[in-house]
This record gives sequence, C-alpha cells and structure tokens, in this order.
Amino acid sequence: MQETIRKLLDLQDHDLLILDLNRRDKELRSELADEQRRVDEQIKQFEAEQDRLKRLQVELKELEIELESRQEKKKQLESQQAAIKRNVEYKAMMKEILDVQAAIRLTEDKILEKYEAIEQEKQQAVVRDKEVAERRAALQEQLAVVEAKLHEIAQQLDEVRRHKKEAEGRLDDRVLRLYRRIFKNKKGAVVVPIVNRTCGGCHLSVTAQMENLTRHHEQIIQCENCGRIFYIPDEEAADEAAASQASADTASADDTSTDESGLT
Ligand SMILES: [Zn+2]
Repeated sequence: MQETIRKLLDLQDHDLLILDLNRRDKELRSELADEQRRVDEQIKQFEAEQDRLKRLQVELKELEIELESRQEKKKQLESQQAAIKRNVEYKAMMKEILDVQAAIRLTEDKILEKYEAIEQEKQQAVVRDKEVAERRAALQEQLAVVEAKLHEIAQQLDEVRRHKKEAEGRLDDRVLRLYRRIFKNKKGAVVVPIVNRTCGGCHLSVTAQMENLTRHHEQIIQCENCGRIFYIPDEEAADEAAASQASADTASADDTSTDESGLT
C-alpha cells in the first residue's frame, strides 16, 4: 500500500473515532433528556392530582355551608309552624319543611361522596409522591453515571483530536484538502477498499483499469461515482506482492514513480 494511503487511513481512523465519540455523546445527552422529560411528566400529573384534591375540598366546603343554611331554614320553618293556628297554613308549612328535609338529605349524600373522593385522591397522592421521589432519585443516579461517561468521552476526544492533528501534519497539503473535502461531503469513510471489484463506499462496480491503477500506481485514484479514494486492502496487496515477487526476475516492476499529480 502506498505511503500516502497509509497516512490517509491513519487520519481517517481518527476522524471516524471522533464521529463515533460525538455520536455517543449526543446519544447519552438525549437519553438523559428523555428521562428528564418522563420525570417532568410525572410531576405534572402529580400537580394535576393535587389541584383536583384542592377543588374537591373547596366543593366539600361549599356543600357544608349549604347544609348549614338548609338546617337553619328548617329550624326557622319549624318555629314558624309552631305559631300557626289554621290547619291549611299548618299543612302548607309542613310540606315546606319536608321539602327542606329532603334537600338536607340530598346535601348530606353529596358530602359523603365528596369525602370518599377526597380520601381516594389522598391515597393516590401518596402513591404518586413515592413514584416521583423514586424516579427523581433514579434520574440523579443516571445523571452521575452519564456525566462520568461524558467526561470520559470528552477526554478521549481531546486525545484523538491531538493525534488527528499529528496525522494531518504528515500529509501533503493537496492530499489533505482533497480528503477534507470528501470527508465533509460524506461525513464518513473517505478512503475505501476495492472489494470484489466494487467501491467500498458506494458499492458500485469498479473497472479493471481503475483497480489496476489503484494497485500499481502511486497516484490517488478516486471512485468515478462517489469520489472516495481507493485502496487495495492489505491481504490482497500482500497476495499481489507475493505474486509479483515470483516473477520479479523476469519482469520489471510496474512504474511506481508517478507522483500524486492525479489529484482532482
Ligand atoms: Zn464509490
């Protein structure tokens, strides 16, 4: 494998690692955000339940006031009734008292229902409160773990970036510019192997001529379809070397003196 390709692959290793570390960083942050959202959701639910409980307590208060005023009314009517002499009036008053009594019973039933509903809400609140507390504690724990991981990733990124700079420094400016342009475009592998006469990047077929150029020349060969830079994987290169060594006595080596002027 030509030296430039080796250097490019070294740089690419660093770039791909940086991509991977950045992706992991993003994933971790989004996992954490998801969990935070779930906790917020639960707190919102808890607050809604608390509001419901308060509303029920207000309604209960209103019913109790209503009951009190009806009982007052009944007492009033009873004392008025006692003063009545005429039978017709007495009977009319009696009916009025019975009506108030029925209304009192109705209010008492409603009060009982309200008590039950409040009791239920209170029990629910205890359960929810516990759930929220547990979830919050779990989130805190997760936060600590994720923060440690993020810190580790940041450290790795620092180191890889430093090595990447060194790898860049070992490359010819033109080659580096070409590499950067393709990397920016593809956001992934730039230097790809030719495998089974297909491009390791876009998987379209590669002509025999392109493969031969890649195998034998020092210049940089790019995929005609995706523009990625080709190389022949080590194993094949080794096989090739073994084959050419066998015929080294009789045949002169291919011209490998071509420089990298084949850059596009
Ligand atoms: Zn391609």
